[in-house]
Amino acid sequence: PYDVLIVGGGPAGAAAAIYAARKGIRTGLVAERFGGQVMDTVGIENFISVNYTEGPKLVASLEQHVKEYDVEVMDNQRASKLRREKLIEIDLENGATLKSKSVILATGARWREMNVPGEQEYRGKGVAYCPHCDGPLFKGKRVAVIGGGNSGIEAAIDLAGIVEHVTVLEFGDTLRADAVLQKKAASMANITIIKMAQTTQVRGDGKKVIGLTYKDRNDNQTYDLDVAGIFVQIGLVPNTDWLKDTLELSRFGEIEVNSHGETHIPGVFAAGDVTNVPYKQIIIAMGNGSAAALGAFDYLIRSSVE
Ligand code: FAD
Repeated sequence: PYDVLIVGGGPAGAAAAIYAARKGIRTGLVAERFGGQVMDTVGIENFISVNYTEGPKLVASLEQHVKEYDVEVMDNQRASKLRREKLIEIDLENGATLKSKSVILATGARWREMNVPGEQEYRGKGVAYCPHCDGPLFKGKRVAVIGGGNSGIEAAIDLAGIVEHVTVLEFGDTLRADAVLQKKAASMANITIIKMAQTTQVRGDGKKVIGLTYKDRNDNQTYDLDVAGIFVQIGLVPNTDWLKDTLELSRFGEIEVNSHGETHIPGVFAAGDVTNVPYKQIIIAMGNGSAAALGAFDYLIRSSVE
């Protein structure tokens, strides 16, 4: 069996693998797609100590760093079940079962998409999901935020300090954000909130976003809004469907962990966007992944599983 088996090959999983392998323990990493969300990222400007990099480039260095160590990497493999027997067992969709003394779950998350024409085409060309990452790219421009929940209104307040103007489009007839956020947003002169607005299309010039079209759900009229950026803030979905039967998840579907990355099952740790740790960022996922590996190592030296 493995000493540590990591499920997920994004920043959290890669960091966990390096930290575990450096302890000289048998380390495996199974991932559906090595690199995770970073593979879908164009420019990265907040990976501290690196002024600018691009997703695939960062993934290539991650892979190279992992390869420096004795880590058994199983790429293109999807985990489908976790069981706590004497050892922890992970079933793969290909029929195999992997056994390990400890496991680190780092299966990440995905942004919920609008599923409207133009969204995929202009992803990274004006369609964005992360205000902390991409906000500064729209300095002095007009942008839209889709979604009036906490993340949407937080994004609007955050962006309003950088961009010229923010329009929030909320599908329902009320905002779902906390009152204090709504009040703050209402006090900012360059935020406009439109309710009962259903975004129906992302418009572009072939190279980048030039605006969007929305339907006013009161009278079914459609309107064009000219913006350079569209921040989609309608939810982040943790990749935990396969864990529902075995792990208690938060109401958002996240794995709850403590500061050592431990879940409620002994020997099962978790790190990165899949957990309830706030602020989903590369550097945070790497930090959590490293901590979970050290947590797992601590667990192993104290446990009696041979
Ligand atoms: P992920 O990167 O989501 O990796 C999850 C891993 O688990 C993948 O390898 C996946 O294939 C694997 N996996 C999932 N399910 C299974 C399964 N059942 N079996 C096996 N493997 C599985 N953050 C920044 O700090 N700066 C940025 O500029 C930035 N820009 C972003 C731009 C975009 C478009 C997106 C989508 C995100 C961006 N982020 C950015 C956020 C950042 O990418 C994430 O916070 C980070 O990747 C989380 O790392 P993770 O390892 O927890 O999860």
